[in-house]
Amino acid sequence: MTVLRASAERLAASTAALETLPGFANHEPSADEFAVLDPSTEQRIATLPSYSAEYAVEQVAIADEAGRAWAATTPRYRSDVLHSVYAHLMANRDRLAFVISREMGKTLAEAQGEVQYASDYVRWYADELLRPAGGYRENPAGGSTILTKRAPVGLALLIAPWNFPMAMITRKIAPALAAGCGSVIKPAGLTPLTTLLTVELMAEAGVPRELMRIVTTTNPGPFSEAVLGDPRVRKISFTGSTEVGSTLMGLAAKNIVKSSMELGGNAPVLVFDDADLERAVEGVFLAKMRNGGQSCVAANRIFVQDGIADAFAEALAEKMASVQLGDAVSEGADLGPVIDRRAVDRLTALVADATDRGAELRAGGAAPDEPGYFFEATLLDRVPGDSDIANTEIFGPVAAMSRFGSEDEAIALANGTPFGLAGYVFTESLDRALNVADRLETGLVGINNGVPSNVAAPFGGMKQSGLGREGSHEGLEEYQEIRFYNIARRDTA
Ligand code: NAD
Repeated sequence: MTVLRASAERLAASTAALETLPGFANHEPSADEFAVLDPSTEQRIATLPSYSAEYAVEQVAIADEAGRAWAATTPRYRSDVLHSVYAHLMANRDRLAFVISREMGKTLAEAQGEVQYASDYVRWYADELLRPAGGYRENPAGGSTILTKRAPVGLALLIAPWNFPMAMITRKIAPALAAGCGSVIKPAGLTPLTTLLTVELMAEAGVPRELMRIVTTTNPGPFSEAVLGDPRVRKISFTGSTEVGSTLMGLAAKNIVKSSMELGGNAPVLVFDDADLERAVEGVFLAKMRNGGQSCVAANRIFVQDGIADAFAEALAEKMASVQLGDAVSEGADLGPVIDRRAVDRLTALVADATDRGAELRAGGAAPDEPGYFFEATLLDRVPGDSDIANTEIFGPVAAMSRFGSEDEAIALANGTPFGLAGYVFTESLDRALNVADRLETGLVGINNGVPSNVAAPFGGMKQSGLGREGSHEGLEEYQEIRFYNIARRDTA
C-alpha cells in the first residue's frame, strides 16, 4: 500500500507550530542533548537537553517550595486558574494538535481529539476541587465527634508515556494542581515537545512555572533514583509499562511514597453470537485502531463466538483493508506511522510468528518499503493460543482474532493473563453483558462500546495493570491524604 504524503502547506504549518516552542532548537545533538524524530519521515524535528540527576533534584527543591505556597491558596482561586488553563488550551488547539501529530505520529484528527480529551481533565478538576470530600462521624461509644478532611499529599513526580503525550500529562497535572501539589514532570523521551507546549500554555494562563518543573532526560534510571530518593517527594504517578512500573514501585518503597501506577494492558474482547454484527465490528475496529492500536486499552485479544465468527471476520477484514496509511499531518490519512523502527520490527515478527503457527492473514500484514515507521492495518484470524501475538501487548494496528464456543470458555480465555486493565463485551443481551462484565478481571469494561475512557470515569487496572485510578473524583484522591480530627465532647447528660 502507498503512503499518503503531507502537502507542503501542512508540513509548513506544523513546522511553524514546532518552532513556537520555548527555546526551540534543531541541531545535531551534543553528548548531553537528544533529538526528537518525526515518525512519519524519520527526520529530526527538535533537539532538547538531556538533564542530569542533579538538575532534577534542583527542580524538586523549586517545585516543593512553590507547592507549599500553592497549597495555601483557596479552592476558588485554583479553580479559576484551571478554568483559564482550559480556555487557553482550547484557543491553542491547532498548535497542540500539530505538535502531537509531528512527534507522535497520530493523524491530525486524532490529535485534535486528544487535545479535547486532555483539556477536559483540566476542566473536570477545575470543577471537582470545589467540592472537597470530607466527613462527619460519631464515636459509636460516645464521648467524641470525628471530622475527616483531605490535605494535599505534597510534591508529586509525574512520569508519562509517549502514546498520549498530552492526555497522560494533563490527567496527572490537573488533579495535582487541583489538590494543591507541585510536581516534577518527566515526559517520554520520544514525545517531550507536547509536554513542553502544554506546560508553557498552562503557565501563560496563570499557573506558576515553579509548580511544574519539566525534566527531559535520556537517563531515566539515575533520574528516578535521585528524585524518589529525595524525602521531599511524597507522590509518584506513573503511566507506562508494567516492567518500569515495578522498578519504580521498588524505588518508591524506600521513602514509602504514595504510588499510582497505570501500567500495561492485554485487553480481551468478547463478541457473542447475539451481538449486533455492525455495531460489534465498528466497536472492535475503534477499540483496536484508536491511536494506531498504540493504546493501553487497545483490543488485544479478540475472541469471537463460533456462530458469528465468519461474518465478523469478513466485515472486519474489509474495514481493515480500507484503512489509508499516511503522514500524520497529511489530508486524508486514516492511520499514521507507529512510534519507531523497533515497533515496526516487532509487529513484523509477531505477524510472521502467528502465520507460521497457522493464523490466517485476512488483511494487511506488511510494512511499506518507504520512509517512516508505517505498518498496514492488519487482521489475523484463527490465531493459535501459543503464538507470541496472543501473549503480548501488541501496541500497533494488528488485530489478533480467535474463536470460542461457550461463555465459560470465553471468560477463562479473557482472564488467562496477569494483566487486567480493559475488557470489552459485545452482546445484545443485558443479562449476558452484565454477567460477563462482572466476571472479567479488569478495571474497566466497554459494553458495546469501543472507547470506554471518559474524564468522569475512574480509569485504572487490576492485577499487574496497576494501582490507583485517574479521572473522576477518585483521581483527585490520589493526590490527597485523608486526615481526621477526633474532638472530645464533655458529657452533657
Ligand atoms: P515505558 O515504561 O517504556 O516508559 C514510560 C515512561 O517511563 C517514559 O517516560 C520513560 O522514559 C520512563 N522510564 C523508563 N524507564 C524509567 C526508569 N527507570 N525510571 C523512570 N522513568 C523511566 O512505556 P512506554 O513504551 O512509553 O509506553 C507504553 C506502555 O505504557 C504500554 O505498556 C502501555 O500499556 C502503557 N500505558 C498504560 C496506560 C494506562 O493508563 N494504564 C496508558 C498509556 C500507556
